[in-house]
Amino acid sequence: MSHQEDGVHCIVCGKDQDQFSIAHDEWMRRAFLFVEQGQLKMCAGCGAKYLVCESCGGLYCRIHPALESWELPDKCPKCGWVNKDVTAWDGTSARHF
Ligand SMILES: [Zn+2]
Ligand SMILES: [Zn+2]
Repeated sequence: MSHQEDGVHCIVCGKDQDQFSIAHDEWMRRAFLFVEQGQLKMCAGCGAKYLVCESCGGLYCRIHPALESWELPDKCPKCGWVNKDVTAWDGTSARHF
């Protein structure tokens, strides 16, 4: 079973983002500029972390340590807002270990 990325539900387990909580992840903050500049939410069901859309507050995209640039959307799946830091990311994770 897979879930479409709609900016509202967890793509891993399908839980509604109403039940997500604000998350802090120092590693991800250091690794990804758009996490440092933005906000993370964590799924209450499976623990997956998401970047929060600054425009609508929806789930912009899932963030995980092995993230590749092709996994990132070019816009928010919910409202269409474009996060320039995400778009500019070249796929090199962990800027400074
Ligand atoms: Zn989940
Ligand atoms: Zn949005």
